[in-house]
Amino acid sequence: MTGVVEGEATFLEQLQAFEGRQVGPTSRAPEPVNTAMIRHWVEAVGDENPVYLDPDAAKASLHGEIIAPPVMLQAWTMQGLKRKRTAGSAQDELMELLDSAGFTSVVATNCEQEYFRDLHPGDHLSVTSTIESVSPEKQTALGTGHFVTTRQTFTDDAGEMVATMLFRILKYSPAKSGQEATKKPSRPRPGITRDNAFWWEGVQAGKLLIQRCGGCGTLRHPPRPMCPRCQSLGWDTVESSGRGVVYSFVVSHYPQVPAFDYPLAIGLIELEEGTRLVSNVIDVDPVDVHVGMPVEVVFEAVDGAFTLPLFRPSAADHRRKASEA
Ligand code: ZN
Repeated sequence: MTGVVEGEATFLEQLQAFEGRQVGPTSRAPEPVNTAMIRHWVEAVGDENPVYLDPDAAKASLHGEIIAPPVMLQAWTMQGLKRKRTAGSAQDELMELLDSAGFTSVVATNCEQEYFRDLHPGDHLSVTSTIESVSPEKQTALGTGHFVTTRQTFTDDAGEMVATMLFRILKYSPAKSGQEATKKPSRPRPGITRDNAFWWEGVQAGKLLIQRCGGCGTLRHPPRPMCPRCQSLGWDTVESSGRGVVYSFVVSHYPQVPAFDYPLAIGLIELEEGTRLVSNVIDVDPVDVHVGMPVEVVFEAVDGAFTLPLFRPSAADHRRKASEA
């Protein structure tokens, strides 16, 4: 019977008819680029680069004036909690079509931004969103589904394109995975680059290293080439004691990636040297994880192939609890 094959082709054709369609009208940012929003953003992410807020430092830099952090791009055009939805947009129609075919789950897979010039206070952005592509049906570890790629184009009031953003989601059907009976897949490997290779080499050797600026001595993590405080490119490392506290945490229940066990406690660990890193909190019931909990690093071999620094309640804390009891 050829009906099934023809049916699938027709469904894919229906999906791919959305390619090139604009998602709703062009949307102008509620406010121009401004230093108040920049201040809140850099404080929230802990970015101390002075070119974002200090006019004198910005003037002395290669930028010559205040610039907005490039990765703030999307923040400028967000419409807020009370935004008016465009009923029946191409994106809504596409999602309904995928839902009706059983691809009811969604996960964001990747986002890429490209900047064509710096943004300065006073720039007023508009954004236009277009469905760029819809993939044929794909088998993934989460289930069978279609990747939907959207391209946002950011322009200024002169119509000049200042940046673009690619955003890709997977609309999938968890019931169609058929992977339940197969053996547990291995844990995802870290993305190792020239900037962070030293850190992963340290971990493989059982050391938790922290990058230290060669100019001003400031410690920083995650690894990156330039000091955010003094812009020095020189650095060395110090070895952490491996002791710290849970600064913040989440316990993840869904979506469940097959390589992990759930519920999964994911902690933002503040080391006693002052830097923070994201890791898993282990050897404790996730309901007992709490902010301020003393923890210590444990290097655990994963899949017999590579080592990860995980954190467990510190031995000192165990002893204190035992003596209290
Ligand atoms: Zn420095």
